[in-house]
Amino acid sequence: MLKNIEFNKHKVLIIGYAMTGKSVAEFLLEQGASITINDRGDLSQDPSVNLLLSQGAKVVTGGHPVELLEESFDYIVKNPGIPYSIPIIKRAIELKLPIYTDVELASWISEAALIGVTGSNGKTTTTSLIHQFLSYRKEGQAYLAGNIGVPSLEVAKLAKAEDDMIIELSSFQLMGTEKLCPNIAVICNVYEAHLDYHGTRDAYIKAKLNLVSNVSANESVVYNYDQHELREWLEDNVAQKVPFSVNAVDDFVRTEGAYLEDETLCFKGEAVASLTDIQIPGSHNVENVLAALAVAKLKGISNSNIQEALHRFNGVAHRIQPIGQFKERHFYNDSKATNMTATITALKSFNTPIVYIGGGLDRGNEFDELIPYLSHVKAAFLYGETKEKMAKAFLEAETAQIDIKENLTEATEAAYKAAKKGDTVLLSPSCASWDQFKTYEVRGQLFVDVIQNLIKEEPYQD
Ligand code: ADP
Repeated sequence: MLKNIEFNKHKVLIIGYAMTGKSVAEFLLEQGASITINDRGDLSQDPSVNLLLSQGAKVVTGGHPVELLEESFDYIVKNPGIPYSIPIIKRAIELKLPIYTDVELASWISEAALIGVTGSNGKTTTTSLIHQFLSYRKEGQAYLAGNIGVPSLEVAKLAKAEDDMIIELSSFQLMGTEKLCPNIAVICNVYEAHLDYHGTRDAYIKAKLNLVSNVSANESVVYNYDQHELREWLEDNVAQKVPFSVNAVDDFVRTEGAYLEDETLCFKGEAVASLTDIQIPGSHNVENVLAALAVAKLKGISNSNIQEALHRFNGVAHRIQPIGQFKERHFYNDSKATNMTATITALKSFNTPIVYIGGGLDRGNEFDELIPYLSHVKAAFLYGETKEKMAKAFLEAETAQIDIKENLTEATEAAYKAAKKGDTVLLSPSCASWDQFKTYEVRGQLFVDVIQNLIKEEPYQD
């Protein structure tokens, strides 16, 4: 960790006391800063808050009063999820008070090489793949951080100059950055997303491009060359451009980047691995692998290590995650699919017959968009608030068997029984989990547990 920042002279307002807010508060107090923690909830029962209070933090709970700003703070560190539209943040913007997220502070103190990964989809998978590849480096450690669930400051404190900090960055986090400058920036893709938070597509793209706003010719930007818009946005950027491409391989990509050609994953004219080395399904994952492979090659990882890591990488939990193959039936957990786009991606990833399981929280939408992708679905087991609405879509797609169940356990048991040799049983709910579960992780884990139990208790007889 670098120590040349005089945090002891900083007066900071921390808005939002969740996992990252806690890490920021602890770090700043350790450094001797003067801090105020503000959360709309009641933190009186939280022992960690009492500890911070005893160390001199001020704590204001039960709302976000604008009057807090009457004290002169040097800057705010905001939880990424808190919108810019709440009065205290609006007022802070008027006052030109810098509003950061924790990743900005982490970038100030990090000695390690920073590899920042953003995109609308594929961030976690790509970040995890890079981590697997860079774990082969002998010189230093590879750390995961950021949106993947590890507070960036905790890692930045630990990591040394020879280490790598691979940090997953959401657009919400990137909105709160100013000086952050990754050594290698990765932009997986930019689709339209989070318009409710960012307001406009331009604002969303601007936040994503914050990742590369400070880079110089010493840094590299790995980006999706198949997205023409992304090429244009990066046109004037001075960093080393490292494109990756599946569909638009040209001489520039062959000279400078990572690409798929003749079923081979290549980097700058060299064959690195075979398409068949990839164990995770779907063409979207080929893109994620190419992005990660580009980083691995930039960091000097050998082709044999890349191939080995690909063989070992079984995906990230709940993202079209293979959970086993039993008597020629394949089981996949895609609980992270909380909307139709993600479910369409999953459905496109298989050409076997699918026994589908889905349903969940009703957000008021219909499911017609799924219809063109349902032709290889032989049976659907639907549950949750949306079960009837989803059934309409499957009916229209003429799915042979459509069954409505009360809950995920029943749906999974029925799907297990319906699966024949060669079939894929896929949980890809297309809905949020909150009607019956606390999180999509809990939902996915239940599915995995039920399947593993059935394999043990009721093995197929054929
Ligand atoms: P994120 O961290 O950006 O949410 P994940 O790696 O967790 O992305 O993947 C979540 C889901 O997004 C996947 O299950 C898949 O449906 C979809 N996805 C992943 N990678 C891509 C990609 N490169 N392009 C399009 N969709 C993708």
